[in-house]
Amino acid sequence: MIECPGCKISFNARHRICPRCKSYQAKLEDRIEYLADKAEMALDGGAKPADVESMLVEEGLSSLQASEIIITRARKVARRERSYGVFRLLGGSAILLFAGVLFVFGMITTPSRAAYYAFLGALLSGAAGVKPFSLGLYSVMTGREKQ
Ligand SMILES: [Zn+2]
Repeated sequence: MIECPGCKISFNARHRICPRCKSYQAKLEDRIEYLADKAEMALDGGAKPADVESMLVEEGLSSLQASEIIITRARKVARRERSYGVFRLLGGSAILLFAGVLFVFGMITTPSRAAYYAFLGALLSGAAGVKPFSLGLYSVMTGREKQ
């Protein structure tokens, strides 16, 4: 919260100017944490770093401060995406492994009814595992969520 020395009220950091007197301008250092969080949320939502940077500059930050925030927050977002990606990659790998096992079982038991179901199961689980596997791999390698 920010305090206006004129009105003696506290107001939220999303206000740049005291909402009562509309003359007291909040100090930048009081708002910087709020702005950094806002930037992180925007990056998390897939906003372009350049757009987020110009939003911060519009809020009164120098472009150096803005790009510093972008760099640190983007790294944080990337780390989060990456750990989610690992989770997906492992899940996808497990499904693909299961498909592989079914396929091998089918090869061993073919020709038989059991082999037919094994191949069918391998095909279905293989198709189900490819997407999480490739999306997870993409996130792990790039630190980004594929849109
Ligand atoms: Zn005021």
